[in-house]
Amino acid sequence: MTDLMVRFAAPVKARGMSEPTAGGRFGGYGGRFVPESLVAACAEVEEAFREAWGDPGFRRQLDHLRRVYAGRPTALTPAWNLSAELGITLLIKREDLAHTGSHKINNVLGQALLARRMGRDRLIAETGAGQHGVATATAAALFGMRATVFMGERDVQRQALNVFRMNTLGAEVVPVTSGSRTLKDATNEAMRHWVTCASDTYYCIGSVMGPHPYPWMVREFQRVIGEEARAQCSAELPTAVPTHVVACVGGGSNAAGTFAGFVDTSAELIGVEAAGGAAMTDGEVGIVHGYRSRVLQDGHGQIAEAESIAPGLDYPGVGPEHAHLGDLGRARYVSVNDDEVVAALRRLARTEGILCALESAHALAWVLRAAGTDELPTGSTVLLTLSGRGDKDMAALMERAR
Ligand SMILES: *Cc1c(COP(=O)(O)O)cnc(C)c1O
Repeated sequence: MTDLMVRFAAPVKARGMSEPTAGGRFGGYGGRFVPESLVAACAEVEEAFREAWGDPGFRRQLDHLRRVYAGRPTALTPAWNLSAELGITLLIKREDLAHTGSHKINNVLGQALLARRMGRDRLIAETGAGQHGVATATAAALFGMRATVFMGERDVQRQALNVFRMNTLGAEVVPVTSGSRTLKDATNEAMRHWVTCASDTYYCIGSVMGPHPYPWMVREFQRVIGEEARAQCSAELPTAVPTHVVACVGGGSNAAGTFAGFVDTSAELIGVEAAGGAAMTDGEVGIVHGYRSRVLQDGHGQIAEAESIAPGLDYPGVGPEHAHLGDLGRARYVSVNDDEVVAALRRLARTEGILCALESAHALAWVLRAAGTDELPTGSTVLLTLSGRGDKDMAALMERAR
């Protein structure tokens, strides 16, 4: 591991969000830290993705699916009432309106299409709250593939509804009993399993994490959020480009896709983490799940448990490109606590009639806190990505209100 890390001290490039280096590095982060037996499997995915992404036929198929199956383009909704209350112009990118209720479908449709192109007839995935598992089960059903979803045993118990959804869609859910029995253990298990079956099975990773090419590929599949929002903002705003672009960060895929549409503009990019899962602000550089990034660790360098009211944000790592954008100063990362998040979800529900996911409410919680301060002055124009809908979180909110 040590000499790998030395080899890794790459020069930092001055621009954000271009293609990673040949080794899959974003500045000093990323890479492919996997067992020997998975190096070839990752290289095969990389080669297939490069070829597909350069093929207009693949792009057309994906665009078509996005339109007629996933419900894209998603709306850009001006938050009329909240904007007036806060003294800013707030525009909401509505990923909650995408099929399956979040941005996860953008990535999964891309990877499932790639898997089919590679001749694979089975998808495996890790899932925490179950949102990525549901999206993967959905795509597998659509493409006539088998799907196996690894999920920590604790999450299987906590997210019974999503387990039932996956089963109804025809997927097999495997409870993982090792470690803390949550997302990080499910990811380890999915990787271990992939070693045994990489020739017929495609590993569909749910965020901008994992070994190269996943962080890059998943960002490219989520780029559609930012590109649509950029065009929609330019129709909506006299200035065309917002002053601030805000998204929540778990692994970082909805934020990466959003930022990709605005990285070449003057907009300030802000990623909002959960206070209990703030790898960008509280993490240290380390290696987890096949990549190098900022990672929450205990005093002994062991991966720490993240804790958040939003199940999609309690992941101890963060996509390597975010660590790089943070180093470059091109994006800024902040965190909000559970109470602010619940208050933000309620406020959006009451002012705009939109019930958002607890994950998405993190982005709004920062806007509510910062509006009218130097961080987000009166008159600012804000593009906020609402990553998903809140139905899945109503039980947790009821519990909390008791
Ligand atoms: C999974 C999920 C997230 C976190 O994932 P990112 O990769 O950080 O985008 C955020 N919001 C919702 C609704 C999710 O389902």
